[in-house]
Amino acid sequence: MKCKKCSAELEVHRMCRRIRMRCTGCKQEYQIHEVAGDLDEKTEKLLENYTALIYD
Ligand SMILES: [Zn+2]
Repeated sequence: MKCKKCSAELEVHRMCRRIRMRCTGCKQEYQIHEVAGDLDEKTEKLLENYTALIYD
């Protein structure tokens, strides 16, 4: 999925037990709930690997 600011690709970024989406362009980090409405299929599949983690 794309960054809202610069349209670069977002990647899943794991920090301890927390997950963020981080932009590969501007390095903006998004909490999952901020982008939940915009998750694409590929990203949802990635996040399925982290279901034990806390989405805060
Ligand atoms: Zn960006």
